[in-house]
Formats: sequence, C-alpha cells, structure tokens
Amino acid sequence: MSTTPRRLVLLGATGSIGTQSLEVLTRYPDIARVSGLAVGGSRPELVTEQVLAHRPEHLVVAAPERAEAVERAVGAACAAAHVAPPALDAGAEAVVALAGSLGDGDVVLNAVTGSVGLLPTLAALASGARLALANKESLVVGGSLVTEAARPGQILPVDSEHTAIAQALAGVRPDQVDHLVVTASGGPFRGRTRDQLAAVTPEQALAHPTWAMGRVITTNSATLVNKALEVIEACFQFDLPEDRIEVVVHPQSIVHSMVTLVDGSTIAQASPPDMRHAIGWALAHPEKLSGLARPLDFRQAQSWTFEPVDEQTFPAIGIARAAHREGGGAMAAYNAANEEAVDAFFAGHLSFLGITELIRAVLADPRRPRAERADGVDGLLHVEAWAREAAHALIAAREG
Ligand code: NDP
Ligand code: MG
Repeated sequence: MSTTPRRLVLLGATGSIGTQSLEVLTRYPDIARVSGLAVGGSRPELVTEQVLAHRPEHLVVAAPERAEAVERAVGAACAAAHVAPPALDAGAEAVVALAGSLGDGDVVLNAVTGSVGLLPTLAALASGARLALANKESLVVGGSLVTEAARPGQILPVDSEHTAIAQALAGVRPDQVDHLVVTASGGPFRGRTRDQLAAVTPEQALAHPTWAMGRVITTNSATLVNKALEVIEACFQFDLPEDRIEVVVHPQSIVHSMVTLVDGSTIAQASPPDMRHAIGWALAHPEKLSGLARPLDFRQAQSWTFEPVDEQTFPAIGIARAAHREGGGAMAAYNAANEEAVDAFFAGHLSFLGITELIRAVLADPRRPRAERADGVDGLLHVEAWAREAAHALIAAREG
C-alpha cells in the first residue's frame, strides 16, 4: 500500500455501512485518513464519537435543522478533549460539495440511503476520486449518466453481490462472460404465499435472517425490491443487459454471486455474510486486507442451497426489469415510488404487499413523464418528483 495515506470522505457515516467502514479504517489505518464525514444528523452522540476517533477536518449535517444539536455535541466534546473541532456545514448542497472536495488518488465512500445519493455520486466522479459505492440507488436512478461520468474502474461497488461479481470477473474478458447470477437471501418471508403476507408488520419485515442493515434496505430485502435494484445496479456496473443477469435464492448468504462463462463454467465468490469484506475490498483494491473477515470453515459440515425466486409472490424484480428496458427515467420513478411506499408502510398507511403494488401503479400511470438523455440530471429529478407526488396521491386515495 502507498506510504502517504489517501484522504477519504465518508457520506452516511452513522449508518450501518458507515459505522462498519469506520471500523475497517480503524483496524487498517494505512488505507486512508478520514478527511470528511457527512451524516443526516439524527445521532449527535455517535457523530461526536466518530469525530473524536477519526479527527476529520470537515463535517456536514445534511438536515439543516439538526446541525445545531450536532455542532453543540461535537463542539463540547472537542473542547473537553482539547482538540480543534471540524469545520461544520449543513444542507444537501454541502454534502455534494464535500463529495467533490477530493481528487485523483483519494476515496469517496457513498453510504447514504436513497436517491439523495445521486448528486454526491456525480460530484465524486467529477473530482476524479475513487468512488466506493454503497448507495446503489444513485447508479440505479442515474444509470447511464453515472456510468458516462466515470472513468473505467473509478466506481468500486460496496454491495456484497457486486463485490463478488467484480472478484469473479478478475482475469475474465467481457466476451467470455455468458451471464451473471446474483444471489438473494430471499428475506424474512421466503416460502410465504401472498395471503400469508397480507398482514405483515414493519417489525416482521425488519427481522432479516442473515444481514443487519439500515431500515430501507432491510424492508427492500423483504419485498425483493433490493434484489430488483441490484439487478439494475449490475447492468450498469458491469455493462450488461438485464436478460443476462439471473437471480437465484440462496438462503445462507454465503455465495455472494456468480459469473457463468461461455464455456459453461461458473465462478462463485463465497465468504460468511459480513459487509466489512465488501467495504474492505473496495477501499483497499487491488490490495487484500489480511485478516479482514472470518473465512469459511470447511471442517464444519454445511449445506448451501439454491432455489428459484417466487416471482408470483414477489413481483418486484420483474417490474424493475421492464422499467429498465423502457429507460427514460422509469427506474427513477420505480425507486422514488418505493422510497415513498416504504415510508408509508412504516407510518401504517400502506400494507406490505401495497409497496410493490404502489410501484406498479406509479409506473403504469400514462401521465408519467420521461427523462430524455439531453435533460441530464434535471430530467431524472423531474421524474422523481412526479413519482413521489403520484405515490402520495395513490396512498391517500387508498386510505380515503
Ligand atoms: P442507514 O440508514 O443505516 O444509514 C444511512 C446514513 O446516511 C446515516 O449515516 C444517515 O445519517 C445518513 N444520511 C441520511 N440522509 C443523508 C443525506 N442527505 N446526506 C448524507 N448523509 C445522510 O443505511 P445503510 O448503511 O444500511 O445503507 C446505506 C446504503 O448502502 C444504501 O444505499 C444501501 O442500499 C446500501 N447497502 C447497504 C448494505 C448494508 O449492509 N447496510 C449492504 C449493501 C448496500 P443519520 O444517522 O443521521 O440518519
Ligand atoms: Mg446487496
């Protein structure tokens, strides 16, 4: 590894990926020095601990109304520890500015949840820094805009499936790939029928069998929307059409994904479920971090099983495939409708099955605008705003 540590900006530091990333950076300080953190602002104590442990120069609180509480907590702790507090900024534009503040040789880790990650992703790419991308929504929503802004190899996925595929593709030429096989745990409701899912509660949806993650991605794992987003993420990350990306349910979450080659061979990446593996892979690539995660222990008997997705009960993947084929920002509408649907589900305004029904209804609305390539990011944001409003109207109509 290089002798001068690179600088690193971490967006979403207090989240599930953010906290695990800081754990990896604490254990492997040679990877990079933390120069900036961005957070939503709902956890001032945790931000304070992170600032004292990593001493970033910049701190951004995305929600301006929470900045004061964070500033107070961080300021008091820094004064008590006799260290200078980081420069603090607030608001969405400050997050974008932080994302674009580094350059070639540095790293931006985007671990924000939702399509609010899109503008920071574009800013990081424009700066020339490596983008370790956990925020799959920015790739799903921004699609070709994001891939066109990236130089080859600039985006390193921090998503266990895509990290696995990238590893399986090492040394493989694009023309040697037949298709990708993305694995899915199946979520907490694997094996259930639609009738059995009618009365599912948010608490039940949050009980993921193999991964501990943030609220939105955990709900998305239960509806299989997460897998749908990952199929589209793979299309853009690996430049393949959606019909060359299969999904298979693998409840143990040990084989993180596979690549099938034209000669009939399938290459798999396997390790116990632990996101620190994907985070460390993306941050240190092409180096390997010795002792990063526990390896598989084949002295213990184990079975790995694979089964097809029940697309009747979980239609999210099929809906996303059609939206991706359509293009024109349809996936931006899909994602925005899902984000609104998840909020409504947690607020008690929408049933579990209502989440994918809402996505389908928003996409089916003939008034849905299209984002033309020439409109750039504004076109996508327009589609998104329309889809959020359409989702609200449909939720209100269902309740009324
Ligand atoms: P969390 O909800 O746990 O964390 C989100 C983080 O973003 C929090 O630090 C939050 O701050 C912060 N935040 C919220 N809004 C903004 C904003 N506008 N600008 C900057 N920061 C903001 O999410 P996860 O860590 O689970 O997921 C993050 C991303 O990684 C998602 O895209 C997810 O799909 C992806 N991912 C996650 C995996 C996992 O294991 N968790 C696995 C693979 C991918 P605050 O704490 O103040 O709310
Ligand atoms: Mg994943």
